[in-house]
Amino acid sequence: MAEIITVNVLARENDNAPIDTIALAGELLAPGLAITPALLDGALSGGWTVTHLPSGKAVSAGAGACLACLRFAAKALVEADVDWTRDGDAIKDDPAASRAGHEFGSAAYECGGVDCEASHYLPAAA
Ligand SMILES: [Zn+2]
Repeated sequence: MAEIITVNVLARENDNAPIDTIALAGELLAPGLAITPALLDGALSGGWTVTHLPSGKAVSAGAGACLACLRFAAKALVEADVDWTRDGDAIKDDPAASRAGHEFGSAAYECGGVDCEASHYLPAAA
């Protein structure tokens, strides 16, 4: 069963300047990572993202993805050989974390947003 936790998310403006830290509900994904609502320009975007718990930063910037696409994309982070409980500077300097972050971002970018049916991520009918 999923564990719902409080996540301190770093909200940013579109120029990337931090606005504030906001407590949001999240779903624990792996040690150091949680699925949270995505914030865009300091407001809820309607999408979901993965937040790095020690830093409060979204792993990939932008409006996020629908929950189905986000869960699929997040496998790249969970399956990577990365200790996500380290602080943001350590993660930033880790090539494996960068690779996983790019893979996650690319997969999440495939989401069709509000029109997404996520059918391309569901297994074929038997
Ligand atoms: Zn989607």
